[in-house]
Amino acid sequence: MKKITLLFFYLIPLLAFSQSNKEIIQKHLNSNTAKSGLSASDVNDWIIESEGTTSNSAITNCYVLQRYNGIEIFRSVSNFSIKNGQVVNADKKFVANVSKKASAKNPSLSVTEALKKAYEQLKISPTTSFAILETISKYKFVISNGLEKGEPVSANLVYFTTKEKTLVLAWDFTINTNAPEHKWSVRVDAQTGKILEKKDCIISCNFDKKKQISVVAADVLVDASPLTYKQLYSKRIAVVNEGTYNVIPFNYESPNHTARKLISNAANSTASPFGWHDTNGVLGSEYTITRGNNVWAQDDMDGDNDTAGTSPDGGASLVFDFPYLGANVAASNSLNAANTNLFYMNNVMHDVWYQYGFDEANGNFQKNNYGKGGAGNDFVHADAQDGSAASPQKMNNANFSSGNDGRNARMQMFLWNYSPPIKPLIVTSPSSIAGSYVVKQNGFNPGRVDLPVAPSFLQSDLVLYVNATNPADEGCFSPANGAALNGKMVILRRGGCNFSVKVKFAQDAGAIAVIVVNNKAGEITMSGADATITIPAISVSQEVGESLIAQMQTQAVNVKLQLESNPFVNSDGDFDNGIIAHEYGHGISTRLAGGRNNSSCLDNTDQMGEGWSDWIALMMQLKPGDVGTARRGIGTYVSSEPTDGLGIRDYPYSTDKGINPMTYANTNKYQYKDEEGVEQTEEHGTGAVWATVLWDLSWAYINKYSYDDNKYNGKGGNNKVMQVVLDGIKLQPCSPTFVSGRDAIIAADQAITGGQNFCMIWEVFAARGLGKNASAGDANVGNDQVEDFTMPSCVLAVKDFENEEVMKLYPNPSSGIVNIRVSQYIGKVSIQINDITGRVVYTLKDADFESEKTLDLSSLAKGVYILTMKGEGLNYVEKVIID
Ligand SMILES: [Zn+2]
Repeated sequence: MKKITLLFFYLIPLLAFSQSNKEIIQKHLNSNTAKSGLSASDVNDWIIESEGTTSNSAITNCYVLQRYNGIEIFRSVSNFSIKNGQVVNADKKFVANVSKKASAKNPSLSVTEALKKAYEQLKISPTTSFAILETISKYKFVISNGLEKGEPVSANLVYFTTKEKTLVLAWDFTINTNAPEHKWSVRVDAQTGKILEKKDCIISCNFDKKKQISVVAADVLVDASPLTYKQLYSKRIAVVNEGTYNVIPFNYESPNHTARKLISNAANSTASPFGWHDTNGVLGSEYTITRGNNVWAQDDMDGDNDTAGTSPDGGASLVFDFPYLGANVAASNSLNAANTNLFYMNNVMHDVWYQYGFDEANGNFQKNNYGKGGAGNDFVHADAQDGSAASPQKMNNANFSSGNDGRNARMQMFLWNYSPPIKPLIVTSPSSIAGSYVVKQNGFNPGRVDLPVAPSFLQSDLVLYVNATNPADEGCFSPANGAALNGKMVILRRGGCNFSVKVKFAQDAGAIAVIVVNNKAGEITMSGADATITIPAISVSQEVGESLIAQMQTQAVNVKLQLESNPFVNSDGDFDNGIIAHEYGHGISTRLAGGRNNSSCLDNTDQMGEGWSDWIALMMQLKPGDVGTARRGIGTYVSSEPTDGLGIRDYPYSTDKGINPMTYANTNKYQYKDEEGVEQTEEHGTGAVWATVLWDLSWAYINKYSYDDNKYNGKGGNNKVMQVVLDGIKLQPCSPTFVSGRDAIIAADQAITGGQNFCMIWEVFAARGLGKNASAGDANVGNDQVEDFTMPSCVLAVKDFENEEVMKLYPNPSSGIVNIRVSQYIGKVSIQINDITGRVVYTLKDADFESEKTLDLSSLAKGVYILTMKGEGLNYVEKVIID
């Protein structure tokens, strides 16, 4: 008889003596060392870096940092989930055999000597010498940055795990340069001074563009919770004025999706109990500008990140009603409206996601934590029209940086100048294909060159680029037909390298313009950066481009490039609620993954940060009547596209695989080498795959539990999926992969519902290639993922949580009175009992079941029977003996 053992996340609470979490974890480690390949000495030196409780499940997640000789092992952060005094889930990142792998015990270079070496390699020239400002511990310091302005450097001695899996003693620095586009996080060999790893803390959100990702070590935590506990519960009855804002309502994406509207009473009383303009926790606003406890929105047109920007003033009555003049005049004319929308949307994001566990104790962004735990003093600096008056002008992007809890985050919103469809490509001969064709101007910054406006024009026969080596991917290698390209308009196909690389190769051969042909259906939004590009470059659809190339095989194709007039576009990201939500989403995932005091847990190649951000944006935009099969582009407004356009990803989001066919294997396709030859991943590409899966999952939840338009605390499938995904981010280990992210969502469902959505979640993941045999490979290698579409046998929850079985039939054997227990299961069940010949001897249909049920089988003859119990996500088979 087959008995399927159910290993559930939950268990019957054992006697929980008041052990500390530290004792509980140590006990767990001691009894599991052998199983996990660790030795006793690997697990006897560690600290709890942070801990937080997840809202619905009452699980406390403890983020444990391993050490050796008292020195932290960088990114060796494990997650232990504790409930009722027991470890119910553990994702361990402990390094085994530490004593053998660790090289040195003492650094040869002092902290300031190492910092000097780091500056040399980062090409930063200090103007003053470094001074230790604060000694936090034997190995942790705050050091002056040697520059005129900017934040000091935080330093920490750590063991850094190399690719060869050895532990090198290294200085970990977070360096805020006075160049606002970089915030470096580096590990420097403590013996040689060589940079072992370099990450940029600013998460940049462009498409098809190189990007490095977050970190800020920042061990200087500021604990600012001046309010007393009591004040929390003083009823918020007399907030005099909560403000009125003329904005795009948060569930609409942009000015292209709906008109602006005057909105009042928008603050949520749980998340922002003193309104959006408070900072002191006493009734009454401290600010009448776009500033308060959660965010300070101001312009940063000069791009210097200082606080000298302007914020509109709503006056004593807090009325922020300013004109928006549209995307075809200079955006600066609408600055006050832009700041207002940016302020509003940041606050909404704060308030909505607060409900799902991004709260004070879990490291959210607030000036004043009102006594509710976590570190305060870390509201978001939201910079409107960032760098729009800088030189070079910053364009076509948005980014977010956040460090550990207690450090301010920064959101930078740029202007975009992507043109709407234009037809400057005029084929003059042969007559069979003569006419004007739609093209797309590029978004290089720098490197975008305006197209000639009438009466100016460029004209020549087209020449196809031919690589000298490697015939595919035209333009990624120097040309074989360089002489033929000289003075001509050059046509080439997309693929193999960055657009700007192709344009530069053609330009170097003397080309006067470049036409890039898409290698698949749809249009391309070409991004890139190369200040030395001086020729125009446009893209055309595959259909148009291939017909030109086909024609060129038999006769000369002569084209003219000329715009009738130059369209002026200044789409302002500050009005794109989707982009603002996406950026804020980076703050949520960075703070929650690995705990609020470690922002280095999402910088591996396989991580899903961009995916959560797109998904968070999509969830905010849901409206009654929406369907999952619709096309949902990200950033259609800033791309000057219709609302059902492609946006800035490879595919629009849709549950319809004809519209969005991406599966897990697609994550292998986004690798490239940076200028230093280091392999990188284009995280927006891989992230889009994760968001695709989460979007499918969201619709599975909505289809099962219906849609609730209350985004704050509704009870619909959309609310449930927001909870399970956020809890999943908290439950997964540091440096997660898609596979560990999937497992964390399944674990979160176990924690919240006892596994009621187990099969549904698996179905969604398996259908996109994250089935039970999917492999993430190395979390730091971007193209070794293996997809799989196999469902686990969905009879029972099978994740091997480290707990006793929670489904039980007892006593067994019995005299006929038996109890069935399924811990945490509440719902309908149907029970059938067969004798050994298969005859049905007992049935019970759609009975209510709440964790336990007693059956009276005393009328049955003595013997062996088979009991089958089915419920939602539940299919339990057990042998029953009556004697
Ligand atoms: Zn992003």
